[in-house]
Amino acid sequence: MEHLTIAQINLLIKNYGFKAAYSLKVENLTATWHALCGMGIPKERLCLAPEAEYPFASALLLLVAQYRPFIKGSLLPAYYFASNAAYHKANALVNELTAKGYFAKRIEVPLAALVEQAGLGTLCKNSMLDIAGFGTRTVLFTLATNACMPDDNLPQKPQGCGNCTICSSACPAQAINADFGLDPSRCIRTYMESAPMPNWVMERLNGFLGCEVCQAACPRNAFIEPVKPADDALLAFELRRLLRGELKAASAYAGKNMCTRARLIAQAAALCALTKRHDLLDEVLALTNHELCSICEAAIWAKGILQSALES
Ligand code: SF4
Ligand code: SF4
Repeated sequence: MEHLTIAQINLLIKNYGFKAAYSLKVENLTATWHALCGMGIPKERLCLAPEAEYPFASALLLLVAQYRPFIKGSLLPAYYFASNAAYHKANALVNELTAKGYFAKRIEVPLAALVEQAGLGTLCKNSMLDIAGFGTRTVLFTLATNACMPDDNLPQKPQGCGNCTICSSACPAQAINADFGLDPSRCIRTYMESAPMPNWVMERLNGFLGCEVCQAACPRNAFIEPVKPADDALLAFELRRLLRGELKAASAYAGKNMCTRARLIAQAAALCALTKRHDLLDEVLALTNHELCSICEAAIWAKGILQSALES
């Protein structure tokens, strides 16, 4: 089959809301620890040898979706909203390419290795990737495909972080070493999964599902204007609703894989304490015997904070 040109690919991906697509060589990837950190995907699930696994693919198509953060003080996870929407669009694009007779498959690769080897992106000190000057507020997907050939005219990768220490100073958990970069064992994102969150993480939560403090501080993202969340999204993540286990509307925004009970209800309980929602104390108390220990422990921690504030 005839390959699509880069111009045709660009037209196609824009229909799905992607900002850019880069057609890269199918090469095996060297995943050093720094290329893996921050990905949140176990190494055994990553494809390190696309050349061997997809010998019939002519290119790896890197899709870039860009998102705007929510205004300061919002607890809603802008990245996960964008990631969920882009995930469905990437799958729809795969379906369209397949319907046209091409091979196309979404694959998980160590993105830092992919973009650094291609000379397209820079791994920043906070473990985020700056792709072709888009900043780090992006969602990235990779397709193995025979729909196009690698593009030789890729943009130059952005400069490295150099002596900048802005995110290191901004990080609430001192997780970014100004010389060596991110220490995932100190990053609060690492602990916002389904297991009980340690107290030091709950004390530092600044929103649902992730932490974006280092990205908010980074000058690479200064050109991206924050936006107010939609009213429906605010309702979906209303604390009372989440504490009562009503997660369906939140899942529609951030994806059901992210919005598990163990994660979202526990975070809602902790955020009640941090935002001084004494009016929700009864709901928090009702969770202190919850069968899931992440929820139970977060509720006990939140109860302690809310009650001691009432007593003082
Ligand atoms: S600011 Fe948040 S996401 Fe960034 S390194 Fe620190 S804890 Fe992790
Ligand atoms: S704030 Fe500075 S050091 Fe941190 S990621 Fe951005 S440019 Fe790099």
